[in-house]
Amino acid sequence: MKKIFFLDRDDTVIEDIPYLNDSKKINFLPKMFEALKEVQKNGYEFIIVTNQSGVPRGKVDPRILSEIHEKVSLEFSRNKLNLLDINWAPFTDEHHSHWRKPGSGMLSFYKHRYQIDFKSSWVVGDRGTDVLAGKAMGCKTILIQKNMDRFKESNFESKPDFVIQDWAEFLVKILKDENLKDSL
Ligand SMILES: [Mg+2]
Repeated sequence: MKKIFFLDRDDTVIEDIPYLNDSKKINFLPKMFEALKEVQKNGYEFIIVTNQSGVPRGKVDPRILSEIHEKVSLEFSRNKLNLLDINWAPFTDEHHSHWRKPGSGMLSFYKHRYQIDFKSSWVVGDRGTDVLAGKAMGCKTILIQKNMDRFKESNFESKPDFVIQDWAEFLVKILKDENLKDSL
């Protein structure tokens, strides 16, 4: 059974530029690759799951989105990180799709494909919707809480297991926090 670190994309892996539609504007978050290397040492692989309502809204070209995700994949490869897949949900809230987070469709999709142990897997994201999707699958959850505004706008029906400000803090917690280290 695989243990997966499911990663949200925007403001978790790369800087959130609303309706990003240009692969030249990708900015990876500081210390993210360093943190994920520590995670991988504990036997995890990675899958990115991202809501992309910009596609049905006509603001993001699916071909450019593919280009963006190819570049993200390439950078994971360069860092010798096992990124298994990038899954994106082309829906808005109006579609009421279980693929769109807080729905867990993008996570459960991999259940049989990779034989995932969800209870030993994690979901990391910057919104309450990421936490809810992870909780629905029985995963442990980490909220990257860059600012309190984002925290307040999120509708928390369940609390994340850990809250961190950024990947630098995650690195410190991985290395110093015995509780978190043990649960990895
Ligand atoms: Mg996000």
